[in-house]
Amino acid sequence: MSTAYITDELCFWHDPGNYALMLKPGGYVEPYNRHIENADPKRRLHNLLQTSGLMDQLTVMPARDVLAEELTRIHSAAYVQKVQQLALQGGGNTGVGAPISSNGWDAARRSAGCALTAVDAVLKGNAQTAYALTRPPGHHAEPEQGMGFCVFSNAALAAAHAIDVYGLKRVAIVDWDVHFGNGTQKSFENRADVLTISVHQQAGYLLVKGEADELGTGLGLGYNLNLPLPPGCGFGAYREAFEQVVLPALDAYRPELIIVPCGYDAGRFDPLGRMLLDGVAFRWMTDAVLDIAQRHSQGRLVMTHEGGYCPVSVPFWGLAVLEQLSGCSSQATCPFTPQHDLMPGQQLQSYQRDLSRQLSAHFEEVRQRHWR
Ligand SMILES: [Zn+2]
Repeated sequence: MSTAYITDELCFWHDPGNYALMLKPGGYVEPYNRHIENADPKRRLHNLLQTSGLMDQLTVMPARDVLAEELTRIHSAAYVQKVQQLALQGGGNTGVGAPISSNGWDAARRSAGCALTAVDAVLKGNAQTAYALTRPPGHHAEPEQGMGFCVFSNAALAAAHAIDVYGLKRVAIVDWDVHFGNGTQKSFENRADVLTISVHQQAGYLLVKGEADELGTGLGLGYNLNLPLPPGCGFGAYREAFEQVVLPALDAYRPELIIVPCGYDAGRFDPLGRMLLDGVAFRWMTDAVLDIAQRHSQGRLVMTHEGGYCPVSVPFWGLAVLEQLSGCSSQATCPFTPQHDLMPGQQLQSYQRDLSRQLSAHFEEVRQRHWR
């Protein structure tokens, strides 16, 4: 069984507009003509998949546009209409820090369509696993507003699609983007049929917190797990957090499908994250989640590409993930891997071990108390 790969040129054409970092140029901010969320990291990953020969071993599938009635599984009709209107008017901000241009309605629907196509591929049995190279990204977008470069909540829409169309009863979302997946959490906070897990840099994003005491509400109480990690975590800290908390939670939940909002901004060169991960870590995390998928989910694993802002390193982290996901190897070797063992920060530090133990005990209690 193969790995489906879904993207679309229109995703690379998504245009947040004229920015410097995420600032409108003006005053003392010199024009830069480049929003920090630009096409480079994702396009360069796409290019590396081609030049390295990995693309030839993936099942490349065409994307489609998400339908309005599919969007309203997660987003309000008013918000969907707002995005369309903004694009018609030439562009604007869909919420908080999520600007689009005149092609934004089309690009965002195509991006979400990539995620839904990935779910279809896996649940129809046309592929074992699937990778949706989505842009704009999705995991910050909330039901009522765009946020943090994200317009529609791609991974949440994918989970809702799996439940509504294929009748799944338990879907797990494991978000390892360095920023808190607030949009995904909000989409399912009162539902137990989607277990949302976000591993992120603590307090590293605007307005929303993503602390470990945010457990969901109502029927969803206990089915939202946040692992806020301190800045500076390397492979050892992530492996510990996964082994102590993420993997046991997935094992206990027994998901029928796993969706990974896969960001690369916990990578060590990222301008918007303060973590130390490299291809070694991304390979390990992919394997770890794949192992759970093979045990509980008939191997069904879908990834949606989220953040990651270093145009040079992201392609190699992405190649690492896609090699593990597909079980195929490419001709490219990662130029950063030889440095892995030279970096002391890749080792687990005692304070990181203590934190994972605390989170493990905390969530064990949550499971005992609230899981049905
Ligand atoms: Zn991010």
